[in-house]
Amino acid sequence: MNLILMGLPGAGKGTQAERIVAEYGFPHISTGDMFRQAIKEGTALGKQAKAFIDKGDLVPDEVTIGIVRERLGKEDCNSGFLLDGFPRTVQQAEALEEIMEDEGGKIDAVLYIDVDPDKLLKRLTGRRICSNCGATYHLEFNPPKQAGICDKCGGELKQRSDDSEATVHERLEVNMKQQQPLVHFYSEKGTLKKINGDQPIDQVFRDVKAILGAVFD
Ligand SMILES: [Zn+2]
Repeated sequence: MNLILMGLPGAGKGTQAERIVAEYGFPHISTGDMFRQAIKEGTALGKQAKAFIDKGDLVPDEVTIGIVRERLGKEDCNSGFLLDGFPRTVQQAEALEEIMEDEGGKIDAVLYIDVDPDKLLKRLTGRRICSNCGATYHLEFNPPKQAGICDKCGGELKQRSDDSEATVHERLEVNMKQQQPLVHFYSEKGTLKKINGDQPIDQVFRDVKAILGAVFD
């Protein structure tokens, strides 16, 4: 089964990806890993990508799509794959459709881990880090015994600037704008499967398995 995993930052995509890969055994293909691999192997496209990355430029679509094509053509993808972080645009999604057609396959399901953005804001801004020993806490999910103080060493707990409300809000907005056209694209195709991500991790995964069971029955 050929799957795409989508969701906003903090929705729990990483955790679900790990579970899916452990359960079904096919490769988890993230864009970052794919670039690193192509660069390490020194493929023609890998070299092109590296030149852009070294200059601090964005890797153009045709190079990215070429790398995706190479990666999905590898043997370990024969029985399926889990794509994560690609496609990012409708243009890339259309290119992926072509790749799949050439391979004689298709994208079977797009799993969208859905969590209300306000809840994500709370999840992502609740993290606190001990300024002394680096231990991490979460105001809601893993609070310290005494507010603002590290359980382990008594150090002061602080919020990283990346986790500030303004930064997180901006990151969520950018991602929502980016994902909305893709959500529309895959709902039109009938492959988009929304999963309620505002549940315990085990329940989210049970829902994922139920959906995949229904798609592949
Ligand atoms: Zn500490």
